[in-house]
Amino acid sequence: MTYRGRFAPSPTGQLHFGSLVAAVGSWLCARHAGGAWLVRMEDIDPPREVAGAAAGILAALPAFGLVADEAALFQSQRTAAYDAAFAQLRAAELVFPCTCSRSQLTASGGIHRDGQCIDGNPADREPAWRLRVADVEIDFVDALLGPQRERLRESVGDFVIRRADGHYSYQLACVVDDAWQGITDVVRGQDLLDSTARQIWLQRCLQLPTPSYRHLPLVVDTAGNKLSKSSHAWPIDPAEPTPALRRALAFLGRPLPDLPVGADELLAHALIDFDPAQLPHCSGSSIG
Ligand code: GLU
Repeated sequence: MTYRGRFAPSPTGQLHFGSLVAAVGSWLCARHAGGAWLVRMEDIDPPREVAGAAAGILAALPAFGLVADEAALFQSQRTAAYDAAFAQLRAAELVFPCTCSRSQLTASGGIHRDGQCIDGNPADREPAWRLRVADVEIDFVDALLGPQRERLRESVGDFVIRRADGHYSYQLACVVDDAWQGITDVVRGQDLLDSTARQIWLQRCLQLPTPSYRHLPLVVDTAGNKLSKSSHAWPIDPAEPTPALRRALAFLGRPLPDLPVGADELLAHALIDFDPAQLPHCSGSSIG
């Protein structure tokens, strides 16, 4: 099967150093495999969206030499596909409406495992919709981190795939679109490692293929905190892309040319003798 990878940012802020590392890591793996590299804008959560961030990210990527092989897919335009997946789950009785509040779930540690709403769904409140999670172990092999195992019913329980405000969850949209875009290899940050078992369970429920997963170490600041869009800890400047691109490639263990070269040359150099198995594994690699 031809390798198809993707970078799937959420427009909750401009491209930051942590997301640049994920973009570069997924790009290197796709190019190394002679495959396609796609960009998907995960703009399905309007309350968390920052105005101008989607356009800013899409404009910044080519400045770093990261040019997608197909037009960007916008999740905000994919509601019909999520509706269809939701209808499929509903027809199979794999989802249930739920109005349980956090406090109602305190006794079970915030986890819902009953496969039905304990609140009884009063008519005056819009329900969220949860996916029923069976008592099975989800096993997968992360291409960087090795075998992973999660008893999803214990760790997460029945999880929300459609919120009470009508928006679909990241988990549902991600699974539907990874399958629709024919993604064979997901390369992303380790902060999403604990979403993977949920996504595999959803793939099984929707009879969709499971791609291969590779979770890259997170960039943390000197205090050990994850660099996030909100921290503004390590700004990157698309007008002057090479310093941040050099740091991102160094973080991923790639050699850098001594000469001051542009983004395209830096990426081409990084691909020489690239072996995805040699990407760094351990979380906690720090900068600063
Ligand atoms: N949109 C997610 C994020 O920015 C990433 C999704 C993914 O790569 O699966 O954290």
